[in-house]
Amino acid sequence: MAGNQQTEARRTRVGVLALQGDVREHLAVLTSLGAEAVPVRRPDELAAVSGLVIPGGESTVMDKLSRTFGMAGPLRDAIDHGLPVYGTCAGLIMLADRLVDAPTTQRTIGGLDVSVRRNAFGAQNESFETDLEVPTLGQPPVHAVFIRAPVVVDVGPRATAIGVLDDGRVVAVEQGALLGTSFHPEVTADLRFHALLLQKATAHAAR
Ligand code: GLN
Repeated sequence: MAGNQQTEARRTRVGVLALQGDVREHLAVLTSLGAEAVPVRRPDELAAVSGLVIPGGESTVMDKLSRTFGMAGPLRDAIDHGLPVYGTCAGLIMLADRLVDAPTTQRTIGGLDVSVRRNAFGAQNESFETDLEVPTLGQPPVHAVFIRAPVVVDVGPRATAIGVLDDGRVVAVEQGALLGTSFHPEVTADLRFHALLLQKATAHAAR
């Protein structure tokens, strides 16, 4: 059998929510993994993908734009219908069911049974890097890059912590088809989180 199962004829189409944020980096990673990677700005574009990345950026802006562009409702529907979605950083904030210390006007798409605190590492520590054990992905540890990152302060019964810092803070979670990380794998050469999303998307497409 051919080594590469992602043949041209049945490449899985995975979108990157392209309202705001680091869209291009995620498109490049997904393309390099063999997916058909497309930007998603409209409900009809969302309906045509089997998986989605919500990128890092600024969650308050992404929230406003998702509502202005009529994407908030369709995104939530797609999640409720099992669309695999991977949120990084601001994308994790968008996926969280609950926010802590956020402006009262800020909404999220939700779906992921967690509480998230924005900018949780404080001004002194706006960005940092560390090696993080993620048993789901095996060895080696993930080189995690945090940029004004949120942290998961509570993991509800439907979600599972899959990456925890030495001090106990949760920075990666999984819940069925949903994945969220506080950090940015798209700025490193580690493609394993995107590969996991692509695996979920390919399974979703085959349903
Ligand atoms: N601090 C940003 C927010 O609250 C997230 C930062 C990022 O995505 N790199 O939306």
